[in-house]
Amino acid sequence: MHLSSRVANIKPSPTLSVSKRATELKAQGKPIIDLSLGEPDFDTPESIKQAAILALKQGFTKYTAVEGILPLRQAIVEKFAADNHLNYTPHQILVSTGAKQCLINLMLALLNPEDEMILPAPYWVSYPDMASLAGAKTVVIRTEIEQQFKITASQLKAAITPKTRLVVLNSPSNPTGMAYSKAEMKSIGEVLLRNPDIMIVTDDIYEKIYWKSEPFSNILMACPGLSDRTVIVHGVSKTYAMTGWRIGFAAGPAPLISAMGTIQSQSTSGPCSISQKAALEALTGPQDCVEKMVQTFKERHDYVVGALNKMPGVRCLEGDGTFYAFPSVKEVLARAPQFKSDSLLAEYLLMEANVACVPGEAFGAPGYLRFSFATSMELLNQALDQMASALKRLG
Ligand code: PMP
Ligand code: GLU
Repeated sequence: MHLSSRVANIKPSPTLSVSKRATELKAQGKPIIDLSLGEPDFDTPESIKQAAILALKQGFTKYTAVEGILPLRQAIVEKFAADNHLNYTPHQILVSTGAKQCLINLMLALLNPEDEMILPAPYWVSYPDMASLAGAKTVVIRTEIEQQFKITASQLKAAITPKTRLVVLNSPSNPTGMAYSKAEMKSIGEVLLRNPDIMIVTDDIYEKIYWKSEPFSNILMACPGLSDRTVIVHGVSKTYAMTGWRIGFAAGPAPLISAMGTIQSQSTSGPCSISQKAALEALTGPQDCVEKMVQTFKERHDYVVGALNKMPGVRCLEGDGTFYAFPSVKEVLARAPQFKSDSLLAEYLLMEANVACVPGEAFGAPGYLRFSFATSMELLNQALDQMASALKRLG
């Protein structure tokens, strides 16, 4: 079979692959605890489900406008005004089939072959492969646990070349859980202000799953001067436990949003009509469900980070948000040379501790593992006990 070089250059999403493997092992009867997938374990709140049921009953089951229904785009405009003090009009908003589609629309609309996309690591697994689908090259800026996994202005400056077209920011970050402060964003923004040909995408999908005392800030809130070159990518998957409904949205300069819409019109058309009604309820209805979920994530975070740090050779930072813990296992790897990589250690934990996690290599960060704590305290407890015993057996 002769497939395109485009597809030959990418790999299946590693987070989805690990989770698939865990599901297969479970089906074979292995008692795997799956901490691989970044997906809230809560049910979608009832009022959101009811909005979808009503949409169905009212026959709201046809194609919608490619860019999404106007009331939803208006609700998104209001969300950005209320939460972020950012002003958009509905024609600056595009609703897509998940934040994932927003990102691929953006990269296809913006990147030419040979263009460079700057990506701070650890990064979410799909960004480099999406850039590759657009023919572009990813330039990675490495960060480590010692710098809280955050890039500095001088690291960014050093990575910029005449070919740089796009910079990706994701705060709070998947996989590290770290969020940039407004001052940190400002110093990065100042470098970007001096480079007027560079576009910026800020993936704010974890904005609400955040517990730091300083209010959330993205690059635009820190540097409003970047508004004509910045796209915000967001969605309802994480905030409202709606991963399967597939609704994400992008906000940015009208000509770029329109180009992204053209790509969407030739690939998937508008997102699911019923899900759009559900997303409208999510954004405009009561928000107490979000608070409750975030509080639970924080309790689990405290427990997981504490338990990981008790394991010899494992070091984990306190995160600012998300539902991921991203410990360094470098000392474990140094002590147990049979594990030549974090992937082999993850495999050992899968087979010997029955715990599925994602190796740091998948996020461009060898020497780390990602654990999702979007699962019950009971399972987390069991998983961490089994992991501690399996690591102890290594001596
Ligand atoms: N960005 C980040 C950082 C993510 O973790 C995810 C989770 N899959 C996405 C984007 C995509 O989210 P979705 O397509 O479910 O809206
Ligand atoms: N973003 C989630 C994760 O990182 C979901 C999986 C995916 O879309 O890759 O696990």
